[in-house]
Amino acid sequence: MSNLIIPQAIHDDMVIHARELDPYECCGLLAGTNGTVTHIYRIKNIVALEGAEKLSSFDPAKAEHLGRLSPAERAEIAFVMDMQDFSTAKKDIRNKGLVLQVVYHSHPHDPARPSITDIKIATDYEEIWPKINLPIPAYLIISLMEKSKPDIRGFWIKGGTVTLAHITTAT
Ligand SMILES: [Zn+2]
Repeated sequence: MSNLIIPQAIHDDMVIHARELDPYECCGLLAGTNGTVTHIYRIKNIVALEGAEKLSSFDPAKAEHLGRLSPAERAEIAFVMDMQDFSTAKKDIRNKGLVLQVVYHSHPHDPARPSITDIKIATDYEEIWPKINLPIPAYLIISLMEKSKPDIRGFWIKGGTVTLAHITTAT
């Protein structure tokens, strides 16, 4: 997938989602066909729901990848996708004959580029996507650093290397 087209309505919906969850990070999935996004799936951020201070109370499966991070990295972590929401979205994507294209999340205070933690988690997940029969998605970050001017950028994260994804908003 070299180029990704996101309709204005879905673009706006991601910004609304990011603003609703601010100061927590929002997260979700985009899916479609032939390089054009047609569906958005909001996924609950379990960090936003439970509060970051309660992360240690999560069950081992959910917290597994958190355990591999240093305490400083864990403090920086701000989104963990709810697995039930994720599997519901995954089923719908399959039933509609769509392709998973993007994992998005917001940075309420930081620029639209992957954090060290984002890169680490994306690198861990690189092995997981094929096992659950999904392609490696692009990562899209919605920055609300300038609250009135949201900045959205997409990236590929492969082998620990970050490259810009070409994303066009269709009006
Ligand atoms: Zn991030």
